[in-house]
Amino acid sequence: MEKVESRKITSGTKEWAKKNCNIGFGCLHDCPYCYAKKIAIHYKRKTEETWKVMEPNLKAINKGYRKIKNDDPNLYDYMFPSSHDILPEILDNYLIVLKKLLKAGNSVLIVSKPWPYCIDKITNAVRKYKSKIGFRFTITSTNKGRLAFWQPNAPGYNDMMTSLIIAFVKGFTTSVSIEPNLDSDPTRLILNVAPYVTESIWFGKMNYIKAEGITEEEKPYYLYQRKISSWSHIQKIIEKIKLLPEDVKSKIRIKDSIVKMYKKHGIEVQI
Ligand code: SF4
Repeated sequence: MEKVESRKITSGTKEWAKKNCNIGFGCLHDCPYCYAKKIAIHYKRKTEETWKVMEPNLKAINKGYRKIKNDDPNLYDYMFPSSHDILPEILDNYLIVLKKLLKAGNSVLIVSKPWPYCIDKITNAVRKYKSKIGFRFTITSTNKGRLAFWQPNAPGYNDMMTSLIIAFVKGFTTSVSIEPNLDSDPTRLILNVAPYVTESIWFGKMNYIKAEGITEEEKPYYLYQRKISSWSHIQKIIEKIKLLPEDVKSKIRIKDSIVKMYKKHGIEVQI
């Protein structure tokens, strides 16, 4: 059976780190757009129902980790995790592996829809490795309803903002990923997070929006998502981003999901 841990790094994550690390199968957050879930169901490792059940990958937890070779100064050595999230239930195992990676000398990008409890514990546990750590929080909307639909068991907006502020005030490198963007106008979210971001704000669209098996209740969410991810709407968003203050704009990085869209139309995206 193919392991999630060893799957090929997708374009979304290879923009950020040389290697992925994961310590479990499944994710309680259960986002309908989750790529890892799609892969796990495709390879019959999980079903629509069992994806929510997080099973520890004991091999990944118990093994040793060495410093990996990484010649690219723009990439972290490890992104941890990439195919599940960090929840209180797995925090002890998460910290065991995080410490092993850091102790070996690796830099680690911690990616999460963050729970304040977890971020507080992590920042306390690994503060001596601060210079080797970056936090990248996936905060995709300010809208309660859309967050509840697209990431039903993940923390709400206020909890994610609290987590960002915790990492920021404790002096860690912080960044935010607005991918997949869930808002018609994400500039409000960008302005909200910018004061607490020391590094970058990544902006990207939803890459895969399913067209079949959608219930009547789900339809408005999918229609809205399709509209805001369309070529004409993405151009409008980029124009709005161009109007943001320079100090905010300097933190924004456009993800390859949008760069490719512009390339397809023979244009280079510029903000
Ligand atoms: S939090 Fe991430 S890994 Fe978990 S279900 Fe959502 S997209 Fe997938």
